[in-house]
Amino acid sequence: MAELKYKRILLKVSGEALMGEQSFGIDQSVIERVATDIENARALGAEICVVIGGGNIFRGVSVAAQGGDRVVGDHMGMLATVMNCLAMSSALNAKGIPAVPMSAIAMPEVCESFTQRGAKAHLADGKVVLFAAGTGCPFFTTDSGAALRAAEMQCDALLKGTQVDGIYSADPKIVPDAIRYDTITHADMLKQGLKVMDAAAIALAQDGNIPIIVFSLHEPDGLVEILQGRGRCTVVSD
Ligand code: UDP
Repeated sequence: MAELKYKRILLKVSGEALMGEQSFGIDQSVIERVATDIENARALGAEICVVIGGGNIFRGVSVAAQGGDRVVGDHMGMLATVMNCLAMSSALNAKGIPAVPMSAIAMPEVCESFTQRGAKAHLADGKVVLFAAGTGCPFFTTDSGAALRAAEMQCDALLKGTQVDGIYSADPKIVPDAIRYDTITHADMLKQGLKVMDAAAIALAQDGNIPIIVFSLHEPDGLVEILQGRGRCTVVSD
């Protein structure tokens, strides 16, 4: 087994990443690629928790923006994350990797409900655990859900896979001379209002002393490199 810098990790993948080139929904080839990254990381001996967003299907704010009930919209958004988790766990299972989706909202016919005890037992059995439905509460995001579960599961790091190779002072696709950080503190991220994650998620990670690693999901072997303390990324720690 390789020497791992981060042994137990929580991987956060945004729903949007799963769209690939599509404008909505799930591109199965992206699911397969991320599943392979998880497979390779697990083969190194990593214990892997996963949180997937729902923005490729639904976001609560879009209901509120049209005058609808935000809470209902957020419930719909959380259900979208369940769909994504089911797709990812099924792709992992198809590769022979035991993976268990656990939902913050009870839906026993569909998947297990989240309990810390149950999730820890699955990890100890070598299974990948996917946390669906975010925090289970409206007005939160799956980034906050990821920070919460990373704290509950005592993860060594929260890895946020994005479209770019780290944290920039501004969106590098819009501002070409934006500054890229190799490292930054949780406090500076909050102070500068950097949009990589919402403030609640950063504050939770800061409280739990959990490093956040932001890296590109498009980098081949990006995840396995990061687990070994290499790779191109921004490390957020105090
Ligand atoms: N959501 C929520 N509570 C949570 C997590 C998510 O209400 O704890 C809802 C919210 O409407 C959000 C949607 O689920 O817009 C999808 O999650 P998110 O926007 O975080 O997905 P991502 O941007 O990562 O794809």
